[in-house]
Amino acid sequence: MEKTAVFPGSFDPFTVGHESIVRRALSMFDKIYISIGYNSEKKGFFPLDVRLKWIRKVFSDEPKIFVESFSGLTVDYCRKIGALYILRGLRTSSDFEFERAIAQLNKSMYPEVESVFLLTIPEHTPINSTIVREVIRHGGDASKFVPAAIDLSSYIKKR
Ligand code: ADP
Repeated sequence: MEKTAVFPGSFDPFTVGHESIVRRALSMFDKIYISIGYNSEKKGFFPLDVRLKWIRKVFSDEPKIFVESFSGLTVDYCRKIGALYILRGLRTSSDFEFERAIAQLNKSMYPEVESVFLLTIPEHTPINSTIVREVIRHGGDASKFVPAAIDLSSYIKKR
C-alpha cells in the first residue's frame, strides 16, 4: 500500500527548516502532501495563493510532492486524501509538548493515523516563520531563511 504523509502547517512563509524536513522525509513516503491549513477569518501575512505558489516552485522537480490548502481538521483532511501519516518537525522541548498534545488528540480522533516527527538539524533550530515575518516587517533581508526558489524581494520594505 502506498504510504502517504501530510506535512500540515501555515508556512507563512515556508522556510529552509520546513524544506529540510520535507526533503529528509522523502525516502520514507511514496507521497508527501505539503498542505496549508487556512482559516477564512484569519488572514496570513502572505496571501494563501502566494504561499502555495512558492512551495510548488521549491519542489517543482519532485513528483512525490503535492501542494494544497485545506480548512478544518487535519485528520478530516487526511481521511479525505487517504493519508495515514502526519509529518511534523521538532526544534525544541516546547515544540515537543505542543506537538505531543496535537498528535495525541489527532490519534484519538483518527486511530489509524500516525504522527511522525523529525528533529530539525541544529542550524535550523532558531528559524521560524514568525522571525522571517518580523525581519521583513522591519525592512531586513530574510532571504537566507527561505529556500532559494522563494523571492521575497517584492515584500521587503524600502528603507
Ligand atoms: P504551524 O502553524 O502548524 O505550527 P508552521 O508552518 O509554523 O505551522 O510549521 C509547520 C511544521 O514545521 C511544524 O511541525 C513545525 O514544528 C515545523 N517547523 C517549523 N520551523 C521549523 C524548522 N526551522 N525546522 C524544522 N521544523 C520546523
